Amino acid sequence: MLWFNQEHRLQHASDGLLVTACDSDGVHRVLAIGDYHSVRPHYPDLTPTHWPGHWIAPGFVDLHIHYPQTDVIGSPAEGLLPWLTQYTFVHEAKFADAHHAHEVAEFFLDELLSHGVTTALTFATSHPASVTALFEAAQKRRLRLITGKVLQDRHSPDGVRDETEQSLIDTETLLQRWHGVDRLGYAITPRFAPSCSEAQLRGAGELAAKYPSTWIQSHVAENLDEVQWVRELFPQARSYLSVYDNFGLLRQRAVYAHCIYFDETDRTLMQRTGAAAAVSPTSNLFLGSGFFDFAAAQSSHMRHGLASDVGGGTSFSPFHTMLAAYTVGREGQTKPGLSLSPEQLWWQHTSGAAQALGLEGQVGNLLPGCEADFVVLDPQATPLLARRCAQAHNLSELLFAWIVLGDDRVIAHTVVQGQVVASKTQP
Ligand SMILES: [Zn+2]
Repeated sequence: MLWFNQEHRLQHASDGLLVTACDSDGVHRVLAIGDYHSVRPHYPDLTPTHWPGHWIAPGFVDLHIHYPQTDVIGSPAEGLLPWLTQYTFVHEAKFADAHHAHEVAEFFLDELLSHGVTTALTFATSHPASVTALFEAAQKRRLRLITGKVLQDRHSPDGVRDETEQSLIDTETLLQRWHGVDRLGYAITPRFAPSCSEAQLRGAGELAAKYPSTWIQSHVAENLDEVQWVRELFPQARSYLSVYDNFGLLRQRAVYAHCIYFDETDRTLMQRTGAAAAVSPTSNLFLGSGFFDFAAAQSSHMRHGLASDVGGGTSFSPFHTMLAAYTVGREGQTKPGLSLSPEQLWWQHTSGAAQALGLEGQVGNLLPGCEADFVVLDPQATPLLARRCAQAHNLSELLFAWIVLGDDRVIAHTVVQGQVVASKTQP
């Protein structure tokens, strides 16, 4: 059993017991976690579910993903901007059709859960129907999930481009309908600065101030061509990041994907405002965007956590993302290279990602009071993994073996709100 203590240190019990129960507000939460023999006497009437040979760990938190790009995964292009026009906008245009949006939303949630991801901050498309479809699907499954209508009123083709005034009305209508309903949250979602007029960004900032408990999600400083484009579009801005700051879009619960081409002033701005970076390493490697500077992020105390960024990202699997994050961290030609520990990688995809969302103590961990979303891991999932794990001398080596060799086969069960919602075998 794995969890993090209040100091963010990984704890484990090789023979553990997790006790969960439904609170008066209808949310299933952790009551106790620890060594079986010390926890069990406090709950003599329990009938435990046994998972011998398996590990219980917090459900993973994906800080940045695009559910409408489920069918875009694995589309190669000459970098970010051609990839958007050749594949992404074409697929996203289909989400004007509510039936299509519902079908993809259900498939997307199945995929997240079978990979052990129990909470995600995800883009929808510019069509309100895409947001409604995902919220309805997530509500039915009792998931903690955050999404929002994409804002993009310029430099976008017909079919995905929205209209400034209507886009802000739609955002506020959806936000009032869904934000805080059950476990759902709304994210104000400017696609990225080049796709939004100044009036749209200003309107987004005003909504963010009016509804401070909502999230904000966008992209920043992913690719050099994009950075140059922003410089031309916003010549007065000190940097790409400061464009968002100028419109009131940096604050707690604001999550920006990528954050690669930052200087120290940008990182300080992130730290000061409480905004967080969604590091998306499989996407950055696939699109050739660049390498996130983990050392600089750590030293500036900028919040950051891990994200798949599907469909620019190449996998729903948190294991693949953690391995790619390790690889990006090691890269030492464009920035200082460092070796992220498996505990750090795991934290950035669970409790650290929850902290970036302002949901620490709710998801991404299993301390008492946390919501009961967790995974059951099988260290014998493949012959190679079983062989490698058998030779691990300590917990770090075991975690590293999972990170390097793991995928959805390791996720034996995913449990949301006390219910098994995805399983390799019968629970
Ligand atoms: Zn993205």
